[in-house]
Amino acid sequence: MAENFKRYGHYIGGKEVPPADGVYFPTEDPYTGKAWAEIARGREADANAAVASAHGAFIDGAWPAMTATERGKLLRKVGDLIIAKAERLAAIERRDNGKLAAEVSRQIRYMAEYFYYYAGMADKIEGKVIPTDKHGVFAYTKNEPKGVVAIITPWNSPLTLTSWKLAPALAAGCTAVVKPSEFTSASMVEFAALFKEAGFPDGVVNVVTGFGAEVGVPLVSHPDVAHVGFTGGEAAGIAIYQLAAKGLKTVTLELGGKSPNIVFDDADLDQAVKGVVSGIFAAAGQTCVAGSRLLVQENIHDEFVARLVAFVKDAKLGDPGLAETQIGPIATRPQFDKIMSYIAIAKGEGALCVLGGKSRPDLGAGQFVEPTIFTGVDNKMRIAQEEVFGPVLSVIKFKDADDAIKIGNDVLYGLAAGVWTKSLDRAMKLADKLLAGNIWVNNYRATSFTSPFGGFKRSGVGRESGTNAMDEFFEVKCVWISTDLDVPNPFIRR
Ligand code: NAD
Repeated sequence: MAENFKRYGHYIGGKEVPPADGVYFPTEDPYTGKAWAEIARGREADANAAVASAHGAFIDGAWPAMTATERGKLLRKVGDLIIAKAERLAAIERRDNGKLAAEVSRQIRYMAEYFYYYAGMADKIEGKVIPTDKHGVFAYTKNEPKGVVAIITPWNSPLTLTSWKLAPALAAGCTAVVKPSEFTSASMVEFAALFKEAGFPDGVVNVVTGFGAEVGVPLVSHPDVAHVGFTGGEAAGIAIYQLAAKGLKTVTLELGGKSPNIVFDDADLDQAVKGVVSGIFAAAGQTCVAGSRLLVQENIHDEFVARLVAFVKDAKLGDPGLAETQIGPIATRPQFDKIMSYIAIAKGEGALCVLGGKSRPDLGAGQFVEPTIFTGVDNKMRIAQEEVFGPVLSVIKFKDADDAIKIGNDVLYGLAAGVWTKSLDRAMKLADKLLAGNIWVNNYRATSFTSPFGGFKRSGVGRESGTNAMDEFFEVKCVWISTDLDVPNPFIRR
């Protein structure tokens, strides 16, 4: 093994451990195309060990003995450690998924806010006193942690999407087993060690690495897992939902989208251009909320497309570690192939490629796709209906607000939508009528730890972030206390 070539184990019971059968697989840098570390290839035995560790920590020992205030203090320390270790974690993620250094660094720092927010919430979860219709009883509710939570994440924002689930789960008093994507596992193994450093009892946060079919399936199926928090693609989401149903577990699913970014003729077009570009070309389009359908009012179509092309055409593709790079590589080879196949599909369907449309074999290991814009797209085409998860924008004309709503909603998904207009009436009408979990008016891609995030229709189940996220991790218990000791005789009808 070459020097500096790291080997990552699972993280179980407060330490890194080798895989049960001793097998590892390489993880690659998408820019260089070279492997830089080895990752434990987990199987059922590893999933079982991680769940046993999390379950043990949930039912016994220091964690359940802690007050909610003490849990909150530990979460706050994790936030501080994230800030202290942000550059290290960001460097690992960039090496694994090719995101721009500046973006991933900003993302990791912002993650700390999720831990601070839920640290504050840990001891503000209150039950209710229930005014019942019976005399002589006092009834109240308690929110109790569900138990072991399995967290399964994709490769595009590994630690951020983990934190959206892990911070509220821990604030609620749950314990966790995280299964990161097989393409981006290393950062999670290093992140897990920060929980120990912060003072979390061993076993509260565990990590198993490897492939969905090999370690993800036994993890989700394990009888001691109470809830599954998943972000990823639709096929895996459905498979996980079905497995969870067999065990009657609850799930939160954050899946894909085909989000419309809708530009009206009265919009501030300079702002709208920036919003559309950030919606589809940030992270090379590999974001679930990508505004991959640009709906433009027909009377400004040509002008807007011209401005868009002018803004994007000189974007600098290259090494994601360099400050001047504006678009990095595609994170994985299968994803690169998928994007290129969709570009071919769009051309075959008769869409007009007005920018890009090619790969860049001259850059790095060649896993680059030019920012690509198709005009003349009909909303029925596959390029308008199916998630590409890459830097490919479909431009569709619309006549008026009703037409925009009809086209906007005419997809299977409902994760996000952007609306660009100066008319408040129109903005509020679209916000009411668009079927999506996140509506952005005159901005795009804003998210926060304070605000609920999730999808309508096939974009998901449940909500993350904000106060809503906590509800996913509680069972509600109702306690009835008799204040009238005269228990009625059950054999006498009243
Ligand atoms: P993916 O669905 O292939 O994999 C996601 C994770 O699920 C990985 O860790 C994988 O190993 C695991 N997995 C796969 N099959 C499994 C199974 N049967 N049982 C248990 N685990 C399984 O997704 P990906 O390719 O890593 O990520 C891209 C997808 O993620 C895109 O479709 C994108 O839209 C979606 N995504 C959604 C959001 C959101 O918040 N809605 C955010 C980012 C990405």
